[in-house]
Amino acid sequence: MKRDSGYSTMAAQQKQEEKLWDAVKTSAMVLGTGLLIFTAFMNSASWCVQKIWETSGNFWQTAWLTLYNLFEGREWSLFLFGAALVPSLAFWCFNGILMVADVTGKPTFITRYRIQLGKNDPVDIKKLRQAIYTALFNQFFVSFPMLVPMFYVMKWWGNTFSKELPTFQWFLVELSIFTITEEILFYYSHRLVHLPLLYKHIHKKHHEWTAPIGVVSIYAHPLEHILSNTLPVMTGPMLMGSHIVSVAAWFSLALVTTSISHCGYHLPLLPSPEFHDFHHLKFNQCYGVLGVLDYLHGTDTVFRQTKAYERHRVLLSLTPLSESIPETPKRAE
Ligand SMILES: [Zn+2]
Ligand SMILES: [Zn+2]
Repeated sequence: MKRDSGYSTMAAQQKQEEKLWDAVKTSAMVLGTGLLIFTAFMNSASWCVQKIWETSGNFWQTAWLTLYNLFEGREWSLFLFGAALVPSLAFWCFNGILMVADVTGKPTFITRYRIQLGKNDPVDIKKLRQAIYTALFNQFFVSFPMLVPMFYVMKWWGNTFSKELPTFQWFLVELSIFTITEEILFYYSHRLVHLPLLYKHIHKKHHEWTAPIGVVSIYAHPLEHILSNTLPVMTGPMLMGSHIVSVAAWFSLALVTTSISHCGYHLPLLPSPEFHDFHHLKFNQCYGVLGVLDYLHGTDTVFRQTKAYERHRVLLSLTPLSESIPETPKRAE
């Protein structure tokens, strides 16, 4: 009996060792295959990205040369096309869609993501018309005239009308510089117009909308439109002497992102507008664009304790907002 039990213990031990060995072999095989598939995937992915980049790089270069020849190299026409027409079209097309949602409450896949529930549902048509008139006035009589000195700065300093486009990597570097410049200039000029005297005479107009909509992004007093909206966006390209194609892309991006931050809908896959929406609601919080300077200056402390902040932190929110922000608007006058 004793010998039997000795044999059975040894057999059990052997079985366990075999099992362990099998597990190691299986794991090695699974990991090895996984690693192989992963390496193959990474190789083909990087090959694909490289190919797409080469093709799209060629595409953009060819498109730019076609445009250049179409305008016969006339710099002023190219500048107006890239710095005025393209960004304005991007702004009004994007805001056109938002305005349909604001006026009709449809499509529901947009309006169900409303941040301030019960507001602009539907939007006041008279107020909307006023906002559109002011936005058009600011574009035609403030932004466009400011392009004249910008054109001469770019012509004197930059490589704006070169036949050769900058590389994508350089464009990314420029984009980061433009964004940082905008954050600094917008934050401090915005805080400046919140000083009681300037607020009363200049910035109060923009804050008439406690629940903003897209087009309100450029609904402002002309002086504010120069100081806080246009200069912070123009300065980056002027410092860098950027190519007109980079200017067109940056201006369009800046106009669309400011429209998103005012649109009043926290839509999936788009940047969160909660930060600036909260500024319109509370007046004395969240002055910047990125939020970095607000964090450093402690001007987002109230915002950080709200539901809006929790939603803001979620990068990809697919569920509609079910609760409104509980606080009531309070003017900082
Ligand atoms: Zn605003
Ligand atoms: Zn403000």
